[in-house]
Amino acid sequence: MLLPMARKKDVSSWYAEPKPAETCVLCGREAPNLTDHHLVPKSQGRRQGVKLGDIPTVKMCPACQGYLTKTYSNSELANELNTVEAMLEREEIQKFIKWVQKQPMTKGVRVH
Ligand SMILES: [Zn+2]
Repeated sequence: MLLPMARKKDVSSWYAEPKPAETCVLCGREAPNLTDHHLVPKSQGRRQGVKLGDIPTVKMCPACQGYLTKTYSNSELANELNTVEAMLEREEIQKFIKWVQKQPMTKGVRVH
């Protein structure tokens, strides 16, 4: 006598529509775990009376975001580096990007 077979779960739909990969605004690498980088640090925004929801965000990989927040003060980020263009003009950020693009995404990047 045959036991009723448990119906195999159809998993093909999980893979049918891969989400378009998002890329980091700085290094351009595709990352599964991009974070929303607030162009004005939240604490600075509060001080300037900007609502959290009104602060523009960009998608950034943890390595680039970590680099920015460890290298620059919140006021520098808020006043001088509050656009992607401004960040890309900084020589040291360009150097960091060149370096980080050679790092595998899977590797946790220590920025300091
Ligand atoms: Zn990045």
